[in-house]
Amino acid sequence: MQDCIFCKIVNKEIPAEVVYENDAVLVFKDIRPAAPVHLLLIPKKHIPTFFNLEEEDAHLLGEIHLAAVRVARGSGLEKGFRLVSNCNEDAGQLVFHIHYHLMAGRKLHWPPG
Ligand code: 5GP
Ligand code: ZN
Repeated sequence: MQDCIFCKIVNKEIPAEVVYENDAVLVFKDIRPAAPVHLLLIPKKHIPTFFNLEEEDAHLLGEIHLAAVRVARGSGLEKGFRLVSNCNEDAGQLVFHIHYHLMAGRKLHWPPG
């Protein structure tokens, strides 16, 4: 999608620190980290929010979880990590291309605000 910042990252039109990539998903560092490890995991397909998910997209969510575990293992995060996604404005979604935040490297508070 033309005006989507995450699609531009997928298409290498703007730079990002990519830590993992396959045909379906991209994992890169958040530009404003809120934890020592703060990654964003996205499907390469442009899907604005969970409300826009179609049956055919179901596998993408599994791919994202598998990528999260792969990256967590590779980064020595066996002590734990948080995978969280904000859907729509009340949850604080700012970029309307589905993404999960993977946060780790410190004790994370619960519940988030
Ligand atoms: P949201 O609030 O939509 O759940 O999270 C969007 C996240 O994307 C924020 O944590 C923000 O720092 C990150 N972000 C926004 N623009 C960019 C960008 O151009 N590059 C990278 N790497 N992260 C971005
Ligand atoms: Zn997009």
